[in-house]
Amino acid sequence: MDPIDAMEQFLARIAAYDEQPDVAVAAVELRVGRLQGSFQLSERAARAFGEALARYVDPDDCGRCDGCGGHLDRNLRCSGCGQVSGVFGATIAQHAAEVASRTDYA
Ligand SMILES: [Zn+2]
Repeated sequence: MDPIDAMEQFLARIAAYDEQPDVAVAAVELRVGRLQGSFQLSERAARAFGEALARYVDPDDCGRCDGCGGHLDRNLRCSGCGQVSGVFGATIAQHAAEVASRTDYA
């Protein structure tokens, strides 16, 4: 989605609940290619904007490794230590340990 359109729609969603929409406490300038958007944010809008940014999660963010804290990829494999994390990883680790402990290789 175009960031300028997104900001316009975001502010429109908040406007109905804003008791002081005309008292600007912050300004945001967006330039996308040749387009430019200038937005005056009320206190409510500025707080909502900050919360929206803080809550954003990248689609590739699959969490952190239980072991080393590294980033997990979409297969829940850690980029730091290579372990597979989560319940799926625990199942794999348990199965691997079981296989390793088998003595009946014949
Ligand atoms: Zn790790």
